[in-house]
Amino acid sequence: GDGAAIAPIHDYLSELLARFADVEGGSVADYIPELSKADPRAFGIALSTVDGETYSVGDAFQTFTIQSVSKPFMYGYALQRFGREAVLRHVGVEPTGEAFNSIVLDESENRPFNPMVNAGAIAVAELMGGDTQDERIANMGELFSRFAGRPLDINEAVFQSEKATGHRNRAIAYMMLNTGMIERDPEDVLDLYFRQCSINVTCRDLSIMAATLANDGTNPLTGDQIIAPEYVRDVLTVMNSCGMYNYAGQWSYEVGMPAKSGVSGGILAVIPGQVGVSVYAPAIDGHGNSVRGVKVCQAISSEFELHAFHNR
Ligand code: GLN
Repeated sequence: GDGAAIAPIHDYLSELLARFADVEGGSVADYIPELSKADPRAFGIALSTVDGETYSVGDAFQTFTIQSVSKPFMYGYALQRFGREAVLRHVGVEPTGEAFNSIVLDESENRPFNPMVNAGAIAVAELMGGDTQDERIANMGELFSRFAGRPLDINEAVFQSEKATGHRNRAIAYMMLNTGMIERDPEDVLDLYFRQCSINVTCRDLSIMAATLANDGTNPLTGDQIIAPEYVRDVLTVMNSCGMYNYAGQWSYEVGMPAKSGVSGGILAVIPGQVGVSVYAPAIDGHGNSVRGVKVCQAISSEFELHAFHNR
């Protein structure tokens, strides 16, 4: 249940909120017009354990769109459905060293570099099951709801805003049609990708989704086994090397947690076997990562010695 009564963790998260509340820097994403309406002062932190305890402070119950934090979950789904070999034909596992919306494909195979950048995520979106677009939309909604442990819906205004302005993503999808990396109508694939990015979540939801990855693919609240442990390993590996875009190397060096960020200001980080952490703070830096979110994760990692490569 909600562990607000267990004071030490809750108090620590409240202290982090106070410590970083006044941090300036970054700005709310506005290339998707609807996202520019976010309140730059919003700030929430949540932590969920693999035992199903959750701790939420600040604006942890405020709703925002998941954006790229959705990418690991779609990748896990694709692996679970088709296996490694088939998924590797559509998307690689190599960091790009470039921005999240990079239009570059791998030269020898014409394949998107990894599933954490837009190109790779669009290729992965094509792998959603269903005979019709309505079925695929429903299946995707069900997938994310299972990870969160409650029914999630789509923010229609953000979806329409992305669909109307996402020409760079459209260019990426058509280029992948040209190279044979996607085979269906790019407009349908993009429609699903834009809806995927427009799923409404709270910071608390993201911490439970993170805890599901920390818990080998089983949602700690519902007991629902969503992805097999072997594929959770793959998801966490790619999050570790690519989840924070062209900041991933520095993130791994400083924080040492597989993580994923999104342009709406969410960050989700996983401490395997232990907890999922999430932060919501909409001002993002030049890499597309939440400014206060990065600071919170740096603090948690160093203050609890949670870096993955810290020898105990
Ligand atoms: N929907 C956004 C896009 O495709 C997701 C990007 C992100 O969160 N980094 O541009």
